[in-house]
Amino acid sequence: MKIIHSIKELKQSLQVERESGKKIGFVPTMGALHAGHLSLMRQSVKDNDVSVASIFVNPTQFNDKNDLATYPRTLEKDCELLEAVGCDYVFAPDESEMYPEPDTRIFELGRVAEVMEGAHRPGHFNGVAQIVSKLFEVVEPDKAYFGEKDFQQIAVIREMTRQLNLPVEIVPCPILREADGLAMSSRNVRLTNEQRQKAPLIARTLKESTTFVPGKSVEEVKEYVIRTINQDPVMRVEYYEIVDGKTLESIREWSETEEPVGCITVFCGEVRLIDNIKY
Ligand code: AMP
Repeated sequence: MKIIHSIKELKQSLQVERESGKKIGFVPTMGALHAGHLSLMRQSVKDNDVSVASIFVNPTQFNDKNDLATYPRTLEKDCELLEAVGCDYVFAPDESEMYPEPDTRIFELGRVAEVMEGAHRPGHFNGVAQIVSKLFEVVEPDKAYFGEKDFQQIAVIREMTRQLNLPVEIVPCPILREADGLAMSSRNVRLTNEQRQKAPLIARTLKESTTFVPGKSVEEVKEYVIRTINQDPVMRVEYYEIVDGKTLESIREWSETEEPVGCITVFCGEVRLIDNIKY
């Protein structure tokens, strides 16, 4: 496995691979890797001849300075983990490599980028579109792998690639969870012991709520989820929306969509956790 820090060098290496007819799979990450990230890489290794991971904590997608400053960084360990699952290239640029000058591009990504995370994290998806479009331009992957934990992010990236006519297939991958159901996240290491013990309440409540469908209304299910999680004094639901899985518009009736998805954000103490469930 090669670890590369410069755009020029990565482009040269991948050009050679492409010219010999190799298909390229790509897994963009911010590092601090866990089994969820590795499942994306495993899928890429299965589907492609060459697999590339990027590790870059992208400052333009953080709307909270403290979150950026405290984001875990474990490059050496990450590289060991990636090599063990068959990754061929790790691209780990520094900030001046990705942003030699400030990226002033504003993406107009429509409703999928305005609701939920878009409303609560101003600028977040614009930053995601900035970095992912740059990374796609550098890697030129045939397929790119994204976790369904960030369900809305997948819709946003699909819209961006559609607008820019990028010839990349976006491959969604299922959420990996800890044994107690908590969705794996690089931010989970920030939870105190007490918070870590309580955090599985989110996934447990979401799962339980699926058993109420279609008997209870959308509104009743939403209320149940929010009330149950907020009952724990350590937890505060920021939003819970049940949306159409394609448009991400909130639904009022189950019959409005074939793909209802419940998307939640919860503050567990100071740590912002996200999760989702298909109904
Ligand atoms: P991040 O490093 O948090 O930006 O995540 C990089 C990629 O890994 C994104 O596509 C995430 O959706 C995905 N990912 C993060 N956590 C999980 C998980 N628990 N299961 C599956 N994919 C995940």
